[in-house]
Amino acid sequence: MEIFNKFSLDKATELIQNAEKIILTAHLNPDGDALGSTLALYNIFKKQDKVCSVVLPNNIPDTFKWMPSCNDIKIWNSELEDEIKNADLIFILDFNTTTRVDKMQKVVEESKAKKIMIDHHPDPQEGLCEVYFSDPQAAATCELVYLFCKGCNLEVNLEAARCIFTGLVTDTGCFQFNCTGQRTFQVASELAAMNFDRSEIIHHIYDSYSEGRMRLEGYVLSQKMKVFEKYHTAYISLTLAEAEKFGYRVGDTEGFVNLPLSIETVKFSAFFMERDGIIRCSFRSKGGFKVNTIAQKYFNGGGHDNAAGGKSYKSLDEVVSRFLSIMPKVTKELQD
Ligand code: 5GP
Ligand code: MN
Repeated sequence: MEIFNKFSLDKATELIQNAEKIILTAHLNPDGDALGSTLALYNIFKKQDKVCSVVLPNNIPDTFKWMPSCNDIKIWNSELEDEIKNADLIFILDFNTTTRVDKMQKVVEESKAKKIMIDHHPDPQEGLCEVYFSDPQAAATCELVYLFCKGCNLEVNLEAARCIFTGLVTDTGCFQFNCTGQRTFQVASELAAMNFDRSEIIHHIYDSYSEGRMRLEGYVLSQKMKVFEKYHTAYISLTLAEAEKFGYRVGDTEGFVNLPLSIETVKFSAFFMERDGIIRCSFRSKGGFKVNTIAQKYFNGGGHDNAAGGKSYKSLDEVVSRFLSIMPKVTKELQD
């Protein structure tokens, strides 16, 4: 069924009209799509008479600190508990299970607010929201946010358009991944008719690295990337101490997991790194090989067919050992 049907759009419009206090939230370690979707709606509601806040579970990478109204973002702390509990409406953006908001999980679940989900991950949590706009075929949540705004007659102003464009660019890797569909280009084309500088946004995202970040990439490629020809698989592991030698800042390793996929024969890539006392795991693939099932089964995570993630409380060495031990089994369909 068309997710932007009259029934759902009418219901969402009514919830927005009846809400005075709105919270917009997205997943832990927010990326361009999480920030794009929350800030797009924020820049729209700000112009209406709504008390509205973007609340995120943790800090945003420096790469996105130019985004419209980004300085208004509130990072979760317990003083925000009442604001979330007493909100009238919460938007669940770019995630679909409450575990993805980490320490905010309980307060989001306990809030009296009605909830609207706009998201593109498979298997949304049932019973959480009043209205769901969930479509795993969408390349980005921002693609859906744009269609949602049109469907609810919310005017997409220039600030919101720049936010939405950011989410499209980051989740599609500049329109290259195969999640990029006809509708993605349609939304991009409508945004292109608006008067903002698209190349400026792309420069902000891809040409704003520090020298240290660039050298860290060189180190990772020359020293840390392990390729397993037989399994068409590669992985990179990185300790915090190694990254800190290059002046590591949050967001610096964004995209590292994609690097091995530039090798013709590599179809499956993994990246493991210590962060905030746990091991963050990222998985990517080319073609029909699904990584979300691997993330879910072995690494406490999930995600999309070609892009997934997870975490582990074990040591980096143990996580890598686990990955090496499952590699022959999970890559059966890739082996020649
Ligand atoms: P990344 O590798 O960029 O951190 O995550 C890629 C994708 O995997 C995200 O867009 C998200 O869909 C999914 N993902 C990452 N970490 C987790 C996790 O801990 N749990 C779940 N369910 N999905 C995750
Ligand atoms: Mn997304």
